[in-house]
Amino acid sequence: MDAVLSSNELAKKLEEDIISRVQTLTQKGNTPKLAILRVGENPNDISYEKSLLKKGDAYGIEVQQVVVEDTITTEGLKEKMEELNNDDSVTGIIMFRPLPKHIDEELIQETISWKKDVDCMSPLNLAKIFQGDFSSFQPATPFASMKILEYYGIDLSGKNVAIVNRSMVLGKPLAMMVLGKNGTPTICHSRTKDLKKVLQEADVVVTATGRAKSLTREFLTKDSIVIDVGVSMGEDGKLSGDADFEDLKDFVKGITPRLGGVGKITSTLLMDQLVQAKENSLK
Ligand code: NAP
Repeated sequence: MDAVLSSNELAKKLEEDIISRVQTLTQKGNTPKLAILRVGENPNDISYEKSLLKKGDAYGIEVQQVVVEDTITTEGLKEKMEELNNDDSVTGIIMFRPLPKHIDEELIQETISWKKDVDCMSPLNLAKIFQGDFSSFQPATPFASMKILEYYGIDLSGKNVAIVNRSMVLGKPLAMMVLGKNGTPTICHSRTKDLKKVLQEADVVVTATGRAKSLTREFLTKDSIVIDVGVSMGEDGKLSGDADFEDLKDFVKGITPRLGGVGKITSTLLMDQLVQAKENSLK
């Protein structure tokens, strides 16, 4: 196995498959459409939105931007979500989070139609994941981590998998996905005692702390496989993963790079699930 677990080839394969399926759908007048619900003008949201627009363009998928003021009330946003739920031309919906503090985010998550919830934020879809049912939508970031492991033939059965993140977006659903592959997950966080020991005992370490280059040799062994989900600004003013990639790539057994790693296939998998939703709706 190559030490650098790049997702570039996997991304290409996924993209070719998506484009061919979208062509088949479009020929019959069934082009999938993603609605992006954005609240306010957060630069990170705008940047993600731009990348989705670009992907939509490349894959032949329609992307509709729905932008509301960040002064919108919970009731107002709920109505917007219901409009998109009831719009038959919309296949899937993604809404950027976190929402402004005055909005009841849980209520909005409960409002999205589970059939259009391509980013898997509805409690109904998350409950499926926690029941070990992976037949519906999966949250894109942990899904991308699992896809990379699968692509490189890394069988998780009987393996210890340490996940440094306990959020609902990554750590918790990922632990369920690992269980689904008969691995033994350990969820770590900022209060974990002796993180070094837990990580050294793991076969696979998935990290998403957002602490640039904080994962160093001392936490790992030569047999470690590292999936780096973190993206944050390093001391050098450059975006970096959680792992000190340049140093670790010659030390560990396998590691994802920051560019061409998990992030590269996250939105591709979101689009893949959108196309799947359209296909399912026609069955
Ligand atoms: P988050 O909710 O703040 O989660 C960070 C996690 O790291 C928390 O569970 C936190 O523990 C833990 N942590 C922080 N410092 C730690 C330490 N010193 N030791 C052990 N655990 C520590 O952030 P998030 O939204 O999940 O995002 C995390 C990172 O992933 C960010 O860099 C983000 O940009 C990146 N991300 C990437 C993608 C992608 O597609 N590549 C997608 C989503 C997020 P506590 O719970 O105890 O605070």
